[in-house]
Amino acid sequence: MIEFIDDSEPWRPTTSGERLLFLLLKNHKEARYLSDALTESGLRFARRYGDWSNFLIGASLLHLQQRLIKLGNDVRESAANRLDQIRELRARTCDIVQLTPIEYGADFGELIQEVLVSAEQMRRNIPDGLRKAVLRTGGQRCYSCGRLFGAVHDMEEGELKPTVDHVWPRALGGDSGEENLLLACQSCNSTKGHIATWHMAWIQPIVFSDIDEVDGPPPVPREVQMALHMRAATTYARANGTTLRDAFLTIGPRDRPAKIDLEQGYDFFNMRVHDETRTMVKWIPG
Ligand SMILES: [Zn+2]
Repeated sequence: MIEFIDDSEPWRPTTSGERLLFLLLKNHKEARYLSDALTESGLRFARRYGDWSNFLIGASLLHLQQRLIKLGNDVRESAANRLDQIRELRARTCDIVQLTPIEYGADFGELIQEVLVSAEQMRRNIPDGLRKAVLRTGGQRCYSCGRLFGAVHDMEEGELKPTVDHVWPRALGGDSGEENLLLACQSCNSTKGHIATWHMAWIQPIVFSDIDEVDGPPPVPREVQMALHMRAATTYARANGTTLRDAFLTIGPRDRPAKIDLEQGYDFFNMRVHDETRTMVKWIPG
């Protein structure tokens, strides 16, 4: 959940993509307008009004970030040198993303730099030596589902093999430094591979709020479980000032989905996949 609009960094960033998001959170005035408008409108279209507002802001900023990085990539291909790239990116950012230096509340040049660095990092593969080192020392289990590597959990899947996963996704400027890498199984890695799987999953309260509770908990797709896992990690990282990688390692793999507030229904904001008593990650539904 990206809900943090204040002057501090939500958690300790290790990638240019995270820094870019934090810049947008802090300085993109549109996000603040949206936040104010939602607050003032008094709309009560869902039980968890605050969660919904945060969802809308988070989802729109992540979408904006993806568009900016895509622009950064295009510009890197079309302009020859850094100066031209920056000039073109400034102009096209204003034209296409509707983000003018005025709507952006701080140093626009710093933002443009971070967009270019994110676009650069995204293209960079994990160096061979580092990949091997992570595979050697990265642990025995998938950090996401917790299954043991080398064992057969599923006949079709065969022996479970480790892959190196970017904790902060590459599509959002996650780079290939050691601090952003953990071992995941292939199916978790590829489920997370598409960024929409975890931030768009925040829209789940629409789906879950109508579930008839007599039938028990709804089936929770893996994408949604991974979104819940990511939310727990960002909540932990923010509360403790750690990196996302360390947060995932402390929280441990995701567990069976459970309700947070037993009095409330099944919806995305009232579910968790981590052990609250062990990790002390509290998510208070609004
Ligand atoms: Zn896995």
